[in-house]
Amino acid sequence: MEVLKKYKPQLRFHLLLNVVFGLWITYASFVHYPLNDLKAYVAYFGHFLLLQFSVFGFLYLMALRRWLFVLVFPPVFLLLSVAAFWVYTQDIAIAHGIVRAAFETKPDVAADLISLPFAIHFLLSVGWVVWLVKGHRKITHPEPLRSPLMALALVGIVCFYLAEHFKYGIFTRRLPYNVAVAVDEYAARAPLAFQKIDGTLASNKQPINVVFVLGETVRADHMQLNGYARQTNPLLAKRHNIVSFADTYTPMTYTAESLQQLFTDAAFDDDYSQPKYSLFDVLRQAQIPVHWIGNQTPEISYESFIDQCATQKILDPFHSELSFRKGYDQELLPEFEKSYRAGRRQFHVLHMMGSHWWYETRYPDAFRKFQPVIKSKLIGANSMQEMVNSYDNTILYLDYFLDKTIARLEKEPSETLLIYLSDHGEMLGEDGRWLHAQPGKGVSNPALLVWYSDGFAAAHPQVVQKLQAMRNQKIDLDFLFPSVLGLYGIEGIPYDHAKNVFR
Ligand SMILES: [Zn+2]
Repeated sequence: MEVLKKYKPQLRFHLLLNVVFGLWITYASFVHYPLNDLKAYVAYFGHFLLLQFSVFGFLYLMALRRWLFVLVFPPVFLLLSVAAFWVYTQDIAIAHGIVRAAFETKPDVAADLISLPFAIHFLLSVGWVVWLVKGHRKITHPEPLRSPLMALALVGIVCFYLAEHFKYGIFTRRLPYNVAVAVDEYAARAPLAFQKIDGTLASNKQPINVVFVLGETVRADHMQLNGYARQTNPLLAKRHNIVSFADTYTPMTYTAESLQQLFTDAAFDDDYSQPKYSLFDVLRQAQIPVHWIGNQTPEISYESFIDQCATQKILDPFHSELSFRKGYDQELLPEFEKSYRAGRRQFHVLHMMGSHWWYETRYPDAFRKFQPVIKSKLIGANSMQEMVNSYDNTILYLDYFLDKTIARLEKEPSETLLIYLSDHGEMLGEDGRWLHAQPGKGVSNPALLVWYSDGFAAAHPQVVQKLQAMRNQKIDLDFLFPSVLGLYGIEGIPYDHAKNVFR
């Protein structure tokens, strides 16, 4: 009892501080989760409490010194409040792109973001700061090393490191930590060193127009074209001129890692200590314009590739794969229409959101063919069948997207290729494992298909023959760099001709 009395003012202050912080900032990262049953609510409430407990640890240390709290807490709290406002109201993704926008956006664009609700929210945040700093003045922290609160704070901090060790991002992908991660990533930009190319590169000058559709999280074995029992590709199945490859392989398990390897001459086991040739830089030096149209917000690891393209268009950049308000991939097509020119030497990248978790945000209602579907973001609250149903509906939508893109391309009799490649696959309950960023057969076997126009088949019959012959062979994903260079007959860059699938 004596102890409780002694620490009562401290206890009250830290409790209030954490309730305000938790509800004003931390909870924003949880509020948009689609949850449907008690189990899911309990799990995420526990997650929220644990996360806030770790925040308490850091806040407690900050509060030990008067000057530290007065100097650091107000700006940090206000910055986080601004971030939380956009998360609460818009479910935006806190990532380095936001920091980039904040530092590099023109003032008039920033002015557009300031609305009346935002202004009110900001004033309330200032009110919290004043109230909390005043509250902090009234308490003291005598002999902190003897305080049970100190022990509790240290447990909170240890909890942060343990949780992150157990599952990377479990805390740092959420407020308030994701703001620090975003600033850190922004400051440490451009992790890849590129090999410089001097002068123009020779090539075959043929008017080959490539549309490279970069998919996301699509497994080859869930494609009807590859023998999957469900009709997930009803439109593509009716088409000719398509070669789908069932036996693909990549050891890369997540987007950032996969794209670095796909878009360079790096081997699977490369440590990137030596500069790499960038596919887009090579195409640029061979005078083939590359146009990037993305429905995904670029991550630091592949942003430098996009910077090398002749034009770049990122749809709705402040909503990432972690947001629940993201436009469907078909929104890529009007942008594609603007820059596509039949009969030209061009290289387009259409970067899809594809089948990334949470599956239900990836496709419109009309494609909810396989039922019942998932209802909770907590994987364990959904049945295996619901998970697979939702996932297969995203593949059905991919079928529609690719069919629509091909329908556009075949309007003109030009030499056109569509290469569809997913960056990696997904675990769908094998050994009780789900999603990706982990090794497993479902992750290592991404979908890959090539469509060629009649004009292409007429001009390059030997290439089509080669593709048909390779249909059942194993293809490693390091085929892309040598194959694109081989297709355009680019000279002056060393590459492995044996890996060129178009030779
Ligand atoms: Zn990915």
